[in-house]
Amino acid sequence: MDFANKIRLIKDFPKPGVNFRDITTLLQDGQAFKAAVDAMTQACADMEIDLIACPEARGFVLGAPLAYNMGKGLVLFRKPGKLPGKTIKHSYQLEYGMDSLEMHEGAILPGQKVLLVDDVLATGGTVAAGVELIKQSGGQVAGVAFLMELLGLGGREKLRDHRVISLIKCD
Ligand code: IMP
Repeated sequence: MDFANKIRLIKDFPKPGVNFRDITTLLQDGQAFKAAVDAMTQACADMEIDLIACPEARGFVLGAPLAYNMGKGLVLFRKPGKLPGKTIKHSYQLEYGMDSLEMHEGAILPGQKVLLVDDVLATGGTVAAGVELIKQSGGQVAGVAFLMELLGLGGREKLRDHRVISLIKCD
């Protein structure tokens, strides 16, 4: 399936000059959504993993069905103040500003192998924060998987120590 043409380009969002890739048009198409999750599952099938972790909010949309398909547990990386238990936190630079991610302390145990999943790789700041949370927990990053990779923004270089999988690559 040609997933790339299911994703719509919205110019000047969230600010002038930015070309935003809107994946909601792919998610709305049941066959495309299922095929995309299945293709990501297949691409990650040879990874030895204990858990899947994903950042809020669109990371959840892909991380959850991937975890379900692979029969693995799911760890949620959330924006500050959303998780009810004791958390650990990491702050990072976004394409459009500064942000932080938190996870529940103890959600990842030392030595556990974690697959990090998000919808889009842009500058890599979000998943790099996820990588830091996994490392702070004593876990190992088994790989990082995206629905879409935006080339030329330096994301892959930031993740050069890790195996990176992306279903769609676009300029
Ligand atoms: P990064 O941290 O710069 O790699 O940006 C990736 C994060 O921002 C992901 O969690 C995406 O959800 C979001 N993002 C950045 N650019 C886009 C885009 O063009 N389309 C959809 N999401 C984007």
